[in-house]
Amino acid sequence: MMTQPGLECPQCGKHSLVQRTNDVYLCLSCNFKKDLAAPPPKKSSFNIVPFIGLCVLLLLALRSVPKATPPAPQPTSSSNKMGVSSNK
Ligand SMILES: [Zn+2]
Repeated sequence: MMTQPGLECPQCGKHSLVQRTNDVYLCLSCNFKKDLAAPPPKKSSFNIVPFIGLCVLLLLALRSVPKATPPAPQPTSSSNKMGVSSNK
């Protein structure tokens, strides 16, 4: 499992991309080199900020809710399983 020919080269499109080292792929046709050792910088940014914002917002919303439940828009008529079609 040292060199696995058959990988498609993204540059020339030929299946001559071989694994040189553990992290480096080399194309035998166009000398295209792909280094997997360098991690893409996009992965470091985790979507933690909007998640935290959402959590804080939810916490504030839960805290600001008074004990009295807001009047739910429920019709006094007996609600069936799903009275959707009966509304028209
Ligand atoms: Zn190539």
